[in-house]
Amino acid sequence: MDECRFQEPLFTFGVIADVQYADIDDGYNYTRTRKRYYRSSLQLLKNALDAWRGARVPPLFVLQLGDLIDGFNKAHGASERALDAALRGFDSFPAPVHHVWGNHEFYNFSRSALLRSRLNSRQHADSSPGSAPARPDIYAYRFTPVPGFTFVVLDAYDVSLLGREESSEEYRGAMELIRRYNQNQDLNCPPDVKQRFTMFNGGFSQEQLDWLDAVLTSADEKQERVTIVSHLPAHPDSTDAVCLAWNCEELLAVIGSHKSVVCYMAGHAHDGGYHRDEDTGVHHLTLDGVIETSPYSDAFGIVSVYADRMELKGSGRVMDQLFLFS
Ligand SMILES: [Zn+2]
Repeated sequence: MDECRFQEPLFTFGVIADVQYADIDDGYNYTRTRKRYYRSSLQLLKNALDAWRGARVPPLFVLQLGDLIDGFNKAHGASERALDAALRGFDSFPAPVHHVWGNHEFYNFSRSALLRSRLNSRQHADSSPGSAPARPDIYAYRFTPVPGFTFVVLDAYDVSLLGREESSEEYRGAMELIRRYNQNQDLNCPPDVKQRFTMFNGGFSQEQLDWLDAVLTSADEKQERVTIVSHLPAHPDSTDAVCLAWNCEELLAVIGSHKSVVCYMAGHAHDGGYHRDEDTGVHHLTLDGVIETSPYSDAFGIVSVYADRMELKGSGRVMDQLFLFS
């Protein structure tokens, strides 16, 4: 008999992406090819919280991979109300929730408002020096739930037209960058090449990449296992080309220069994706989004962490996945 089947995990954590809740009737995506279940997404979030609560080994924390409420809330003046409704379930949850920021967060709130909001989970960062970038407007941090395992939350809209004041240096820099690749009048329309240069995506500043590099150098030295989470996928074989982070190549170069990274998790694409980078051994997971999941299914997972691997147990659309450490 396989004794692995009865091995206790060191710990578990929950994952969920793209709830995009809004109290409006069902609709469709931008290209009208996929149905979006705006109202019932809240019930699917509750299903996830109930399942995690009842798990044999309950999660030590939850990763919410961004786009918790939909941009449509803004037009209905319902941003705060929708956010309250979506966060209500998390409030009574007995473990910390790490919130990642996606484009829909910025459709509803400015960056400064988000930093003051309950979607800022930086209070769960490590208390040691260097657990966040020196620039406080970059929403990134490191946390270590169990010695030997570090998690990094990255800000994929650090360089973006979203959430930045139009008069700011950051906005001007992001506009210059996107215009280099995208000549369309509507910047939400992808260009023919480098399709990721659209307004609904963004990237990582040099400051953030330098900070990540320092975090990973320290993790290498301590022989830690690092999982990085952000809203935008980084590996071209883990998702659709239109969903990638603007400077995914630079991020992959930083990740590839360190031994400690085992996994990169993202949302945003709504269709799940997975690819193991052959050069680095890093597992790239794109989680299926709740918003395009039928009310009769589910889209969340629980990850069990062992000394030599992580095992994702998916619910509904989310497929099981094994992440063996190199
Ligand atoms: Zn998104």
